[in-house]
Amino acid sequence: MKVVLQNVTKKFPSRNKKEKADVIAVNNFSFEIPDGKLIGLLGPSGCGKSTALNLISGLQKPTEGKIFFGDDDITKVPPEKRGVGLVFQNYALYPHLTVKQNITFPLENLKGKEKLTKAQMNEKAEEIAKLVQIDGLLDRKPSELSGGQQQRVAIARALVKMPRVLLLDEPLSNLDARLRLQTREEIKRIQNETKITTVFVTHDQEEAMSISDMIVVMKDGIIQQIGNPQDVYDEPVNLFVAKFLGTPPIGVYEGRTENGKLYIGNDCIFDVNVKENKEFTVAIRPEGYALNENGTFECKLNGVEVMGRDISVVITHDNAPEQAIRAIISAENIVDTSKPTVKFDLKPSKVYLFDKQSGERIYYTAK
Ligand code: ADP
Ligand code: MG
Repeated sequence: MKVVLQNVTKKFPSRNKKEKADVIAVNNFSFEIPDGKLIGLLGPSGCGKSTALNLISGLQKPTEGKIFFGDDDITKVPPEKRGVGLVFQNYALYPHLTVKQNITFPLENLKGKEKLTKAQMNEKAEEIAKLVQIDGLLDRKPSELSGGQQQRVAIARALVKMPRVLLLDEPLSNLDARLRLQTREEIKRIQNETKITTVFVTHDQEEAMSISDMIVVMKDGIIQQIGNPQDVYDEPVNLFVAKFLGTPPIGVYEGRTENGKLYIGNDCIFDVNVKENKEFTVAIRPEGYALNENGTFECKLNGVEVMGRDISVVITHDNAPEQAIRAIISAENIVDTSKPTVKFDLKPSKVYLFDKQSGERIYYTAK
């Protein structure tokens, strides 16, 4: 099921007497989620992710704009008639019911033609339990399950009515690191098998990047960029997106252009086709550094972290407002840690210029 948001805005009235302006939680969202894809809504806390999800589920009504499932305008359709499955961070299982009863709960109230017999419900519960791999646990109570298992039950419950759209709001946040990894792979697998159009909300960029076909990066209720994860990582449209994606994070420096050359501090990095002489924010991905004792970019060397295949060179720079920056180079390199500084060549495709005031990307070619 294709999902389309058309100029969707959600405003909440201000409760603060001094600050009368409405909160615009979702500001003029327009995008299309292709049928059968998994999209990640990604952004820091408070940027409007849950509100956007609630608008799709129908739990909240947009102030303006329209939402379509396929060709149907469902903007005014109540949540229970939309055919959506919802999963939240806190699994919200019924503690007094067994796993099986939790899963069949949404089937209990079906009326008329849709009404199921007990045997049919059990069959569905068993089928869906197999899909999320909890079929051995059907007679347990939620308190007898691990967090990861509880979340699988919640996913099974959301799937049992075969929703047209599956909506997941930070479903992994209550799990420990290992389970988080495992469960996110499970979600990807389940989504692949069922081909249910899925919206996955998270503040964790790595999580969103790893499982989404497409990510929507948001800030303060405004969409910053939409695209497949690798494209957004490679071609961020502004400094916010560049900084939000990537581990280790992108290194941010104060730089300038002068007579067609890019400078950071006194170091002339390379020639660029920027005519004006101007100050810029320069951001460099960790993989944009190549160790070279005659390199054009000199940094203070804080230390080296060996990570097996790679080495993380911890550097600082007078023109980098942030503390320590990590450059990732292959472990075949040898960094002389007895020296106070280290020199690199920079790979132009990993060096981005941003307007110092607006943070918008300035596109250039290196010569
Ligand atoms: P996220 O899920 O990205 O953390 P939310 O969608 O929950 O963000 O919230 C976005 C903004 O809308 C926040 O500023 C939040 O305080 C505000 N907000 C969310 N729900 C309500 C509400 N029911 N009433 C008033 N303000 C709200
Ligand atoms: Mg939220």
